[in-house]
Amino acid sequence: MTIAPPPDMPRSSVPTVRALTPALTAGRAVYFDGTCSAKNDVLVEIGPTAIQILSLQHRLLDEWSYPELRRMSAPDGMLRLGRSGETLLARLEIRDPALALAIEHRAETLDRGGVAERRLRRKIVGLSIAAGASLIFTAIFGLPVLANRLVPFVPLTVERKLGEAVDKEIRGVLDIRHLGPAFTCGAGPAELPGRLALDTLVGKLASTAQLPQPLRVDVVRRSEANAIALPGGHIYVYDGLIEKAQTPDELAGVLAHEIGHVAHRDGTRAVLQTAGLSFLFGMMLGDFVGGGAVVIAGRAVLRSSYSRRVETAADAYSVNLMRRSGGDPHALGAILARLVGDKDQGMKLLLDHPETKDRIAAIDAAAAPRATMPLLNPAEWSALKQICSSLPPKGAMPAAGETGLPQ
Ligand SMILES: [Zn+2]
Repeated sequence: MTIAPPPDMPRSSVPTVRALTPALTAGRAVYFDGTCSAKNDVLVEIGPTAIQILSLQHRLLDEWSYPELRRMSAPDGMLRLGRSGETLLARLEIRDPALALAIEHRAETLDRGGVAERRLRRKIVGLSIAAGASLIFTAIFGLPVLANRLVPFVPLTVERKLGEAVDKEIRGVLDIRHLGPAFTCGAGPAELPGRLALDTLVGKLASTAQLPQPLRVDVVRRSEANAIALPGGHIYVYDGLIEKAQTPDELAGVLAHEIGHVAHRDGTRAVLQTAGLSFLFGMMLGDFVGGGAVVIAGRAVLRSSYSRRVETAADAYSVNLMRRSGGDPHALGAILARLVGDKDQGMKLLLDHPETKDRIAAIDAAAAPRATMPLLNPAEWSALKQICSSLPPKGAMPAAGETGLPQ
């Protein structure tokens, strides 16, 4: 559809605005009907609920209600409008500032001054540059090296967002019985004292560790003896680990090891190495929307078995943190040794695993033996042992591939 101005009416003779705001009711604009590229000079009438697009002969061409107006990118000095949900590329171009202002005034949903539009455009440019740069850097350095170099520069806020994004994915994978919120222990009345005891224990470690971000520790109903640290400071402790721990300091030693992973940002590095850099840049620019990248990142955190060097560093962190917190630094070695020898854990093969033996030897060597007070009193420890007592967690079979030592 093409509407040509009548030859007897030169453009300059058409009044641009009939009245001034707020009494302004109509003005000139250019209209593209979306079916062809022809430019149509039109009149735009400002109605109470909609704008009417009229030919210069005052024939109604279209009517767009205010809520459905959407701003499209346009050069400076032009308001370009489209219609949301419109499959045709119909658009209206308004150069008359008074008319543009009057429409913006009416359309509550219209982004004033195009702030969101300009922000989006900057984001897209930023993403394109980042994506290009990441390809070049990856080609030069390789992803693992690059991830290592970049991790110190990832802002903590981004790391936290990353953790929140993978959190849902990880819970979905771990919560095999579909318990939903009840997957986390410590909420019910019978479990509350256990939650308080856990908070006491975590509080002691956290106040000594002085991490730049807050720690969040949750116990979940999983029967394996394991714990994982997500990027951003969220740690999941499996119920099975609490069951296997014989003293509060054994549990604290594993927690301190996981806090070491948080402090060293190992989870973030694992995600970067697996899910790639575009993921990180997406996060930084706030355009992270989920989908496949979250799934990959979540699995990266769950399945990553860290290198021996990374585990040794987390062990050393644990020994140091336990010593400074007044706990028993050897306790981590004690629980690791017991888990390695535990046939129920399906870890029989690990009995002769030199890496775990070396880890235990290194922990023992790093911490000089000395008398310590347990980090929780007997009443607190007994409450913590009951933190998952409301639902029957025992007997739930570990999912294949999910068994393991604390990572
Ligand atoms: Zn670890």
